[in-house]
Amino acid sequence: MDSSRWICGEKDEILEALPLCVEGAPSDPTCPFFQKAHPIGLNMNYRTRLVAARGLGMDWVRQKPSFSPITPKGLSPARCAALSPSARTKAADTDKIRWQEPPQSTEGNIAMRTMGVVSVILSLVVSAAITRSALAQDLGPRVEKLADGIYVHTGKGFDSNSGIILTDEGVVVVDTGQNPIESRDILATVKKLTAMPVRLIIDTEPHADHTTGHFVFPGAIVIAAEGGGASMRAADLAAPDRIQRLAATSPEMKAALEGYRFIAPHIEYHDRMTINFGGRTIELIYMKGVHSESDSAVWLPRERVLFSASAFVVNQINVLRPFVTIPDILAAGKMLKALNPEHVVPGHGTPGTVKIFDDGEKYYALLMDRVDKSMKEGKSLDDIKKELTMPEYSSWGSQDRMPTNVEAAYKALGGKL
Ligand SMILES: [Zn+2]
Repeated sequence: MDSSRWICGEKDEILEALPLCVEGAPSDPTCPFFQKAHPIGLNMNYRTRLVAARGLGMDWVRQKPSFSPITPKGLSPARCAALSPSARTKAADTDKIRWQEPPQSTEGNIAMRTMGVVSVILSLVVSAAITRSALAQDLGPRVEKLADGIYVHTGKGFDSNSGIILTDEGVVVVDTGQNPIESRDILATVKKLTAMPVRLIIDTEPHADHTTGHFVFPGAIVIAAEGGGASMRAADLAAPDRIQRLAATSPEMKAALEGYRFIAPHIEYHDRMTINFGGRTIELIYMKGVHSESDSAVWLPRERVLFSASAFVVNQINVLRPFVTIPDILAAGKMLKALNPEHVVPGHGTPGTVKIFDDGEKYYALLMDRVDKSMKEGKSLDDIKKELTMPEYSSWGSQDRMPTNVEAAYKALGGKL
């Protein structure tokens, strides 16, 4: 394997991980790991290792601001100075590190323990190299990079979208896909991007087409707005054979459901939550009455990426449930636009910009206008539902949801049910 790659890190971590070489025989070239470990410094820092492994390349790893080059005994500062970009390039030329399986040691516990650590590191190096080559591969037409380390996995047609956010501490997934086939595709995408595990899942809403696949990411903590768990449990109780029916839709779906478990949010927040995780700041904003019982916008202020949930969907009539109101939707749109996002990923439909909210506002303005006229003509809600058309939006999907839209407009205009 090509080996002009290295990782640098902090002294303590190296001392901890390489007692045999650094403490025991720092300058002993016969130390089995000396050549591998020393040319620049092999960092055993979990975070840094994983950052490297995520495919940014093993030949440079982003450092924490507090980083200072290591100079363990026997390793000259000059070689550590290879941390500067120019020295790094130079070192890459002169210090080709050849990664190999370490020779078997029989020197007792410390040696064996070290061997274990180094083996793990080596396998990580191998997997990072694989990750890197995978990175060169196409992530597929449904995965789009929005910002450094932030991706959207778009659903087929009007299926739900998912976000993939890489951090220094692991991966954050926003919604786990339309169904478990999609969830596994999202996981496969994550694996192409990084060797890190999925640590957090954020639900923009509790509906099954965003949450059934949580089990595909075992160990991840699921976070949602207050009411998400109650909504999921109620839906589960209302359709106890849901998973069986889903499995019956195709052999692929049955296979993807292997190991299914119902996983409701572990953490629910009220109103707003800020997550500082692995160098990212992620803000969750509860939106009342826009789609489900528990809708969250997921906002990355530094990267200006917004996962806007299903308050607005693209080129599709949204279903407006009885507790959803058009004023709440419009207020949410205003609030989301004020964040000034560069990228907007709706719960469903093609990702874009704040134009998604503008388009939605225009649609609701026209709808309200028409319903208002009909009401002034003295028509009943039932008549309006039957008669009202929106030919400007005939190309939008899910036209069967129009009556729920008419009813919401009717209520917003003061009509009594
Ligand atoms: Zn939904």
